[in-house]
Amino acid sequence: MKQQFPRPKILVSRCLGFAACRYDGQQLCSRIIDLLRDHVDFVAVCPEVEAGLGVPRPPVRLCQEKDTLEIWQQAHARTVTAELQDAAARLVSYLADCDGAILKAKSPSCAPRDAKVYKGIDHPQFLRWDSGIFASFVLREIGVKAVEDEQRLTNLILREHFLVKLYAWARFRSIAAKPRMGDLVAFHSGYKLLFLAYNQSRFRICGKIVANHERLPVNEVFQLYEKEMGQILKHPFRRQSMVNTLYHAFGWVAENMSSAEKEYTINTMEEYRDERIPLQAVTRMIEAQAIRFSQKNLLGQVLLHPFPSQLSDLSDSGNGREMT
Ligand code: SF4
Repeated sequence: MKQQFPRPKILVSRCLGFAACRYDGQQLCSRIIDLLRDHVDFVAVCPEVEAGLGVPRPPVRLCQEKDTLEIWQQAHARTVTAELQDAAARLVSYLADCDGAILKAKSPSCAPRDAKVYKGIDHPQFLRWDSGIFASFVLREIGVKAVEDEQRLTNLILREHFLVKLYAWARFRSIAAKPRMGDLVAFHSGYKLLFLAYNQSRFRICGKIVANHERLPVNEVFQLYEKEMGQILKHPFRRQSMVNTLYHAFGWVAENMSSAEKEYTINTMEEYRDERIPLQAVTRMIEAQAIRFSQKNLLGQVLLHPFPSQLSDLSDSGNGREMT
């Protein structure tokens, strides 16, 4: 069956395949960005170039100076904190309508979580990992959405979680542009199984928001839903919760299946539980049964196709296993 997908908008660090703007005049490539090119609209920015530091340029580093984080350019013995903060503040306008961001790992400007902070300008020893200067602005504005660095996206679990979030926010954005209760109800119903796998209790709260017994204005209902959806999608789903959801989906088609088919389906779901096959192997099988029995409710579930199948990629570096 042909699936319809929105076209997400992603802010991206420009050196990740868009321009040779790194301090050493290089650009990098990223498999996830190459995969996404045909499916999303990218907005590529480079905060250090925006700050007027030029290409190539001597590198900068983050230094903790008492209570302030300074950006130090050793080669010119100067701080460029104000320049970079002003540049970051200007670039924030590009985040309007973005469903996510892919930022350069380890960069003092762009890294969402692993920029190196040194003990001080005169103490070039490692102090801690933190967000880069520009990344802090991005996280403040759209941190609830799909924001990651390109290195963590080499991890299969984190990449699929990123894609699920990206498409959920893009779909939500498309209905929130002209808020109508009917669209929100349809959105909530379509995401039922997927959100149940992510966070059952939060999904129920979303159900109450959509029911709107208080008869709140529609804009307010959308705002409440958006806030709760951010919580649902905060962390990747747990495998056990997904298995429970798969059994739930199976229940929608099981009564028409022969006992041999049921046994086969259950064995396949258990293989997924034991991490021997990918999730798509199970959802495709359940989808085939839904087509066979014309189970429209099940066929309408985003769980079966949370993002375009062309973006599925089972390669896994294992990076970022901590998933925090
Ligand atoms: S990491 Fe960020 S600041 Fe550095 S070159 Fe890439 S886009 Fe520019």
